[in-house]
Amino acid sequence: MGTRADGRLLVTDGQMPAVFVGHGSPMNALEDNRYTIAWSELAASMARPRAIVCVSAHWFINASAVTAMTEPRTIHDFFGFPPALFDMEYPAPGSPELAGQIVEVAAPLWVGLDHDSWGLDHGTWSVLARMYPEADIPVVQLSLDASKPHEHHYELGIHLDALRRDGVLVLCSGNIVHHLGKIDPSKPESGFPWAERFDTRVREIMTEGAPSELLGLRSHPDFPLAAPTPDHYLPLLYLGGIADAAGTKAEVVIDGYAYGSLSMTSLLVA
Ligand code: ZN
Repeated sequence: MGTRADGRLLVTDGQMPAVFVGHGSPMNALEDNRYTIAWSELAASMARPRAIVCVSAHWFINASAVTAMTEPRTIHDFFGFPPALFDMEYPAPGSPELAGQIVEVAAPLWVGLDHDSWGLDHGTWSVLARMYPEADIPVVQLSLDASKPHEHHYELGIHLDALRRDGVLVLCSGNIVHHLGKIDPSKPESGFPWAERFDTRVREIMTEGAPSELLGLRSHPDFPLAAPTPDHYLPLLYLGGIADAAGTKAEVVIDGYAYGSLSMTSLLVA
């Protein structure tokens, strides 16, 4: 059982929470800031998972695949950052067993086993390096199928809910608002009005409404600016599906904005 600073249990009935983490810059893997400190505290507040599945914004391909190798490589999928970031390794073991379990719980939706293509990208390790710096918990990654509609990702999230009862932490890593073309360095800790409106609407849905309302957000007037590409938004739909399956509201565990066009909101489903 884990407890948070406010004393509330985060694990009930032996079930792991599921989280959506707004990961922001890859530099969060190295920097101590209020977000990375909060990620570390979040992990400390939860029971230790037996394994982790991460739905990463940065594995956006034309299929649903899960890493199934015993030693997934650390992928440095960015450029223009300091050498220290390229030197970082996150040598967590993989889990072919969990990969197989994901294929089973996803059915009839299809998920393929990736034995040699991907590994752990920075959507996964920039967050896990702060949550579990020892890298001693098995990790698998699940890709985002770029060819599928929002409903597919939400449905897959519904299926993943079962893993929580088997000690698996489902980590959805993206950003609710993510528009790199609108980054404004003069706003390191604030958001544009459209960014705050969209993020607030998502938080309302997840904490007070029905998670399936996420599926209507494609027609929200701020959606085109908040999610000009779907990759960072889609991981949220997996948490929505989990909340739906569990009949549970999410709670906001971290919030904030960066450079105008990024939201750093993190949500938890207990
Ligand atoms: Zn990212």
